[in-house]
Amino acid sequence: MRAVVAGGGIVGLTSAIALHRRGIEAVIHEQAPAIRAAGAGLGLWANAVAVFDELGLGEQVRAIGRPAEMYFRDHTGELIRPSGFSEDDHRYLLVHRAKLNELLADAVGKDNIRLNSRLVGYEETGAGVTAHFDDRTSVEADVLVGADGAYSAVRSLLLPGSDAVEHEGHHAWRSVVRPPAGVTIDEGVIVLGENRTRGGFVPTVDGTVYWLVNQFDVDSLRGTAKEQAAQRAGFLDTTGWNPVLPALIASTPDDQVLHNQIMLVPPLSRWASPRVVLAGDAAHALSPHITAGASLGVEDALLLARLLASSDEVSAALAAYERDRIPHYRKVAELSQKVEDSVTPEEFASRYVAFSHWMLSR
Ligand SMILES: Cc1cc2nc3c(=O)[nH]c(=O)nc-3n(C[C@H](O)[C@H](O)[C@H](O)COP(=O)(O)OP(=O)(O)OC[C@H]3O[C@@H](n4cnc5c(N)ncnc54)[C@H](O)[C@@H]3O)c2cc1C
Repeated sequence: MRAVVAGGGIVGLTSAIALHRRGIEAVIHEQAPAIRAAGAGLGLWANAVAVFDELGLGEQVRAIGRPAEMYFRDHTGELIRPSGFSEDDHRYLLVHRAKLNELLADAVGKDNIRLNSRLVGYEETGAGVTAHFDDRTSVEADVLVGADGAYSAVRSLLLPGSDAVEHEGHHAWRSVVRPPAGVTIDEGVIVLGENRTRGGFVPTVDGTVYWLVNQFDVDSLRGTAKEQAAQRAGFLDTTGWNPVLPALIASTPDDQVLHNQIMLVPPLSRWASPRVVLAGDAAHALSPHITAGASLGVEDALLLARLLASSDEVSAALAAYERDRIPHYRKVAELSQKVEDSVTPEEFASRYVAFSHWMLSR
């Protein structure tokens, strides 16, 4: 069997590795000139680390990560400890996105990655699928995996009218920096602030620090991305208990502050046709209230490879995958919405851990 994977992000890379491990040939076509990761730090939950363990990459992934815990504080610095959950429901591994994608790309192998290769179309027949790229090349395969992110070309061809939409007013600012002189950071701090803000910082394994600021109801944006982040950091500390986040933002070069309008993929009525299938953000980009899109997406990759390897027919495997994933992500969306609708920091914290508990106990 031969698969063509559109997209060399975390989910496309993991899909290719999972397919290779099961003896399925898989080649990634990535539109960018290099495998790179948009973003800064990434929290990998235990479900994702378990996928990498199964693919024989767990130790390598742990080696580029630093264990962290997702506990929230309120804007006065008070720690919120929701009751009824175990420590494991809060634990995750913080990795640098670019390092993770490099590691995964090495595992896929250069020969199995085509760069500067943007999928622009495909044709499906009973016998296979032909994928077309912007350099006028075409590739025949048994299955096309659309792991091409929130703006997925595969999704828009499979399900016309399913374009990602702006989650109005929802923005994120982030970076990874070395702490400035005089700032020592031993552990992460994540705060649920005033005016629907969330943010803080988490140390990485190599002495740098990942900082992030989200705001969920922005009315207008003024100034540079760095100024926007700094302004919102003020909502996360109303009593001066935490000078570290403003110091980290101030020390970040302007061009290294990543700002995103958050995008949403609407719930999809289908994820597959007989020869084409979606995985990762292409199928389920969500607002990062639950910061788990990538952790969930690598589960898609493993499940898809397992089903393709164990079914006689590609179409049967894709139908089984879709039957599993659609109700699964309906539940993810429901739990994520509850987090988004939280009114108090305590409610947010307990609904957040209710989601991670659900995800990790499956
Ligand atoms: C602010 C923020 C914080 C987050 N934090 C976390 C977190 O801590 N933990 C977590 O698990 N998740 C987190 N997420 C979610 C996570 O970032 C995404 O779920 C994840 O990156 C999706 O990976 P992907 O491979 O599906 O898509 P992407 O990472 O978007 O990769 C898609 C790839 O496809 C390529 N591509 C696009 N179109 C084409 C085409 N036509 N042909 C070929 N290639 C194409 C792109 O260039 C890209 O390389 C966060 C998201 C946001 C916005």
